Amino acid sequence: MRVSYHPGYVVPLPEKHAFPMGKFAALHEILLAEGVIAPGDIMTPREAERSDLLLAHTPRYLDALATGTLTRQEERRMGLPQSPALWRRSRLAVQGTMNACLAAVHDGLAGNLAGGTHHAHPDSGRGFCVLNDVAVALRALRRSGWIRRALVVDLDVHQGDGTAFIFGGERAWPAGGVYTFSMHGAKNYPFHKPPSTRDVALPDGTDDAAYLATLAHHLPEVIAEADPDLVVYLAGVDVIAGDRFGRISLTREGLAARDRAVAETVRQSGVPLCLLLSGGYATRGERADRRTSAYDTADLHATVFREAAAVYGLRQSAA
Ligand SMILES: [Zn+2]
Repeated sequence: MRVSYHPGYVVPLPEKHAFPMGKFAALHEILLAEGVIAPGDIMTPREAERSDLLLAHTPRYLDALATGTLTRQEERRMGLPQSPALWRRSRLAVQGTMNACLAAVHDGLAGNLAGGTHHAHPDSGRGFCVLNDVAVALRALRRSGWIRRALVVDLDVHQGDGTAFIFGGERAWPAGGVYTFSMHGAKNYPFHKPPSTRDVALPDGTDDAAYLATLAHHLPEVIAEADPDLVVYLAGVDVIAGDRFGRISLTREGLAARDRAVAETVRQSGVPLCLLLSGGYATRGERADRRTSAYDTADLHATVFREAAAVYGLRQSAA
């Protein structure tokens, strides 16, 4: 499975910052060590072009990021301190998603070891999301004629407000060409949720059985409604019980079953599938070893790549 990755996905953050920045490098290591991906599968992105970023973002916002002139309030809303490294990182991740979407169209399955930054709006970063990689990538692929319609399956525990806002939800379907499906915690961030094409809000504490039944009900319907040329899957792992920012209660087995169900359902539909991370904020494992929150989070993010590789018969070696 071809995946996008760049060492520049990891940038320094102040100590004790809530975002587990090390998860991107840890995921890269885990997937290579397990043979889920091979070294030759890695696609190294460059920084996304401004002309592409303008497909989803305002010139004012891009200029402010580039020059480090976001206001304190804007920076606080974004949840990450602005820096030249963060600006570069954000553009690398956008290009990584663009490359992964294109690879998925060619190969049937591909991914980015980052991305799914679904809270980013046209003129603002929000909730640890700087740029909306999915919006830029899908608009770029539509512009160049690689796809006509796309389906965004957003299973991060937080609603995909930025993506929903940009693509306009049901009002804009089918003219906008992008169907947004978000299944998320009803009481979670963001507290203002612009409508996706289809939103499914889950009560606090939703368990494996209820979650998987709800997904099994909606997913085949949205694939049929969207009739897409590409499915982009935001496989956020903040649905796990004990996540620092989640409010629902999947087990590790439930998470694997979720990712397997998405891969199987999309594969049966014959539509190319692109895998993206989105959120995950694991608390440290109970074992008294040197594992960090970033490592534990990365291990959860590895689930979707393991399951998809198995479903598509792409596993490089038995781990
Ligand atoms: Zn999230």
